[in-house]
Amino acid sequence: MSATLIDGKAFAATVRGKVAEHVTRLKADHGITPGLAVVLVGEDPASEVYVAAKHKQTVEVGMASFEHKLPADVSEADLFALIDELNADPSVHGILCQFPVPDHLSERAVVARIDPAKDVDGLSVVNAGLLASGEVGLVSCTPLGCLMLLRDRLGSMSGLEAVVIGRSNLFGKPMGQLLLRESCTVTIAHSRTKDLAEVCRRADILVAAVGRAEMVKADWVKPGATVIDVGITRAPHPDKPGKSKLLGDVDFAEVSEVAAAITPVPGGVGPMTIACLLANTVTACCRANGLEEPEGLTA
Ligand code: NAP
Repeated sequence: MSATLIDGKAFAATVRGKVAEHVTRLKADHGITPGLAVVLVGEDPASEVYVAAKHKQTVEVGMASFEHKLPADVSEADLFALIDELNADPSVHGILCQFPVPDHLSERAVVARIDPAKDVDGLSVVNAGLLASGEVGLVSCTPLGCLMLLRDRLGSMSGLEAVVIGRSNLFGKPMGQLLLRESCTVTIAHSRTKDLAEVCRRADILVAAVGRAEMVKADWVKPGATVIDVGITRAPHPDKPGKSKLLGDVDFAEVSEVAAAITPVPGGVGPMTIACLLANTVTACCRANGLEEPEGLTA
């Protein structure tokens, strides 16, 4: 392997450390404890694992964690009543509803109900619009995490060619906007893109967020590029029968011989997502109280 490994696990620990320091200062200087409320509807086992991880890390950085578990058949009216309560609660600075929600609920309507100033997932149309207009808002956690890794690795990205594969509201579109803000020349590719390999070969920064295991091959990558692998696919483990392993969108073994730097899966982008959720909660808390925002934790 010739590429430098971008260690998202270590970088996420640094981000959590900065968040914890800021939380300590907010408590000591202003008597304010940032609070994150997580709403879980139903009993999806994977969602329960994510919510437990978020709770643990929220408490570890010194913030208040409020968990609300609702039954799978909760009505939209009851869910909205809870969100309204959290919107009005001054001890709650961030609100997140864990997705997916059961089919009778609309994710878009749930996100729209959350006060944009507390939308720490950055998924509301208000926050998406603020990002697209170059104004201050809350940025979706995974793209924010990728931006932090890229800034740390590259410093200035001005003038670089960036290609993002994937155009979801959750990731691809906000990632493209963030790279545009960094003055990259940005291409957002998707399932209809013609000659995807050729498009990717232009990229100084290649970000893959598709969910197709190992689709990005060595001959798709410009020598010396920085490659960020967001995709996660669970596949049967080749050596351990009955076990599974996580694969990214990038063929790591091949591409790490061509790229200058690359994120692994797992241990790359994944750990940055919760770290950025905590960062967004501190940012939201500072804005709500008219205080200076923490440095290095925002877009
Ligand atoms: P998504 O909503 O399913 O979007 C996937 C995107 O990939 C779509 O824009 C789709 O294009 C595009 N695509 C599908 N097949 C393609 C192909 N053959 N060639 C080029 N583009 C193709 O997924 P998402 O929510 O953005 O997530 C993408 C991946 O990132 C998933 O594996 C997800 O698990 C992972 N993820 C990881 C984290 C993390 O914390 N590490 C966070 C978020 C997402 P169309 O729009 O044309 O259909």
